[in-house]
Amino acid sequence: MSTRKNPVFLNLEENLQDKEAEIELLQETFTEIGSELNLDSVFQIVANRARELVGAETILIPILDENCETYTYRGGAGNNADEIVGESLPLEFGVCGWVWRHKKPWWQGVLDELSEEERNLWEKEAGTMILIPLQGKRHFLGGIAGINKANGEEFNRRDLSLLSMFASIVAIAIENAMAVKKIEEAHKITEDYQLRLEILNKQLLESSRELEFLSLYDTLTLLPNRTLFRDRLAQHISLAKSDSSQCAIVLVDLNDFKQINDALGHDSGDHVLKEISERFKNILNSHETLARPGGDEFMFLFPNTDKQTITKKAKSILKLLNQHFNIGKSEIAVNASIGIALYPEHGDDIGELMRHADWAMYRAKKTKQGFNIYDPNNDDTSLGKLTLQADLRNTLEKNGFELYYQPQVTLNDDQVIAIEALGRWPHPEKGFIPPNIFIPALEQASLIDKYTYWAIEQSLKHAMELKEHGHNLEIAINISTQTLTNTNFITNVKQIVKDQDRGRYLVFEITENLFLSEYERLLDTLQHICDLGISLSIDDFGTGYSSLSRLKKLPVSELKIDQSFVKDMVTSSDDETIVRSTIDLAHNLGLTVVAEGVETEKVYNRLRDLGCDIAQGYLISKPISFNALKDFLKNHKENFINS
Ligand code: C2E
Ligand code: CA
Ligand code: CA
Repeated sequence: MSTRKNPVFLNLEENLQDKEAEIELLQETFTEIGSELNLDSVFQIVANRARELVGAETILIPILDENCETYTYRGGAGNNADEIVGESLPLEFGVCGWVWRHKKPWWQGVLDELSEEERNLWEKEAGTMILIPLQGKRHFLGGIAGINKANGEEFNRRDLSLLSMFASIVAIAIENAMAVKKIEEAHKITEDYQLRLEILNKQLLESSRELEFLSLYDTLTLLPNRTLFRDRLAQHISLAKSDSSQCAIVLVDLNDFKQINDALGHDSGDHVLKEISERFKNILNSHETLARPGGDEFMFLFPNTDKQTITKKAKSILKLLNQHFNIGKSEIAVNASIGIALYPEHGDDIGELMRHADWAMYRAKKTKQGFNIYDPNNDDTSLGKLTLQADLRNTLEKNGFELYYQPQVTLNDDQVIAIEALGRWPHPEKGFIPPNIFIPALEQASLIDKYTYWAIEQSLKHAMELKEHGHNLEIAINISTQTLTNTNFITNVKQIVKDQDRGRYLVFEITENLFLSEYERLLDTLQHICDLGISLSIDDFGTGYSSLSRLKKLPVSELKIDQSFVKDMVTSSDDETIVRSTIDLAHNLGLTVVAEGVETEKVYNRLRDLGCDIAQGYLISKPISFNALKDFLKNHKENFINS
């Protein structure tokens, strides 16, 4: 008997052939989906192959959705598959829910494991269905479901093991394809995000350009504003310095422009300003600048020029205004006054040149000249540098400066608790010269140190004298930055003050801008001052750039709110807010708050309501001589006691 004819063997051979075919199918599937990254195609291949493998009428691939609450049929093959693919169902539902909960296949054999009740419930379905879980490396993915066998039989154990093996192979491929898809989606989101970011950046750039434009140009005439003008002036000054040329600034101030605004309205006023800027632009060449620093002022910057040329320019500028301006049906005339300052003759920095052009313009206005070139001989505010320096030195030597004193009172009980010493220069020929003029002059002439030591000595002497009269008052002295940052400062102050008992009568007022420079060294100096018993106060607070974190670290005990905020605090809510928050802030840092420039009772009362500690200003007293102060203290005491 031929082995081939042996039915047992024949059966074995068939089995072997079947197995080979199955392995081939699995291998094919593996290669096919291994190279396929499109998720939908992967599902399709898996469905087709599975159907072939177990001879199912229909194969469906339910995949768990990202929410983990539903699943969706993502692929399918065979009868009605098209209709079902794409449908989503809740996870608890039906056989899928069972597989999900038990993490094991559903097939007819499962029935044996179920309770009788459950078996009754599921029996009908079980016979016609097989569902193998798809377990990826990292996640449970879903399953492969076969419905009805094509030969009408039920799914058997062989189907179960075949499909299980198949599922374990394809699960990894499905998981990979799903991961790829996710990466692609994330990538797309990133791309979208990048695109949006690019758009945003572009918008940001545009708005920062807009901001830059706003900070450098006047929006009405689109001419450079004061800031840009100053910048250009600085450039031209250094150019002129390097090639020894002259440049000029020409300030044009319209006369009575307010009347035009008042009579015809601001729109008409704006119209005239625009028209003027157009006319002015016509006489410029490319190296010259025209700016509108504000209001009814225009400014020209002419490089490479001289007095003769600039005189001609000024005349032609005035001529441009001669022609009338049309406003609706009416014609109006505009006049201007022009002030001119030349570098280097009238100043070697921006501030000086601008100030002198301004001064010349006022002179033109006053004398109705049309234009005026700055002339130091006519400028009685600038005393002529050299004679001024000699004058200052002389005055110092002869003890010709004086200190006036302005009282500071507590807001809660109106007691004088301190006084501020303010320098005065009674000039034999020019009368009283205010500190705003002679202090900067002393600084420029490097005489400020000497003056300051004199002021400290004088204040201390007066404090001791007041003490003898029963007034224990601190005297506040303004200390120039220049002096404070001088390396000898502490040694010199020590020599004058001697000990803490005397130091306690002094307060040094320093300005907040000081803190920006040389912070570390300054901190050391301030500490030494405190060691001498002297307190420190921050003057003109609000006008500079103090950073709070720095302020906190300084050994200061007092903060003086600048008078520019105090003056209008009852009419300007902005100012009131600044004053209020400064008081709060200072108190939080443990500082005493002095308000300067208190001129009215309204302001005084408001400050008291806001919790401010001390007031200083004309309401209480103007700065007065030492003798007048003694009278004041006597009367104030009586007034205070009587009130
Ligand atoms: P400051 O330290 O802010 O002094 C306050 C100034 O405001 C004083 O001007 C004072 O007369 C004025 N003032 C006081 N109360 C009122 C008020 O109610 N209304 C108005 N409108 N003004 C008021 P002054 O005496 O002309 O001093 C001007 C500046 O000159 C001082 O401002 C201070 O920075 C400086 N200064 C004065 N004396 C000295 C000094 O001896 N050394 C130094 N380095 N600077 C000084
Ligand atoms: Ca002061
Ligand atoms: Ca001040």
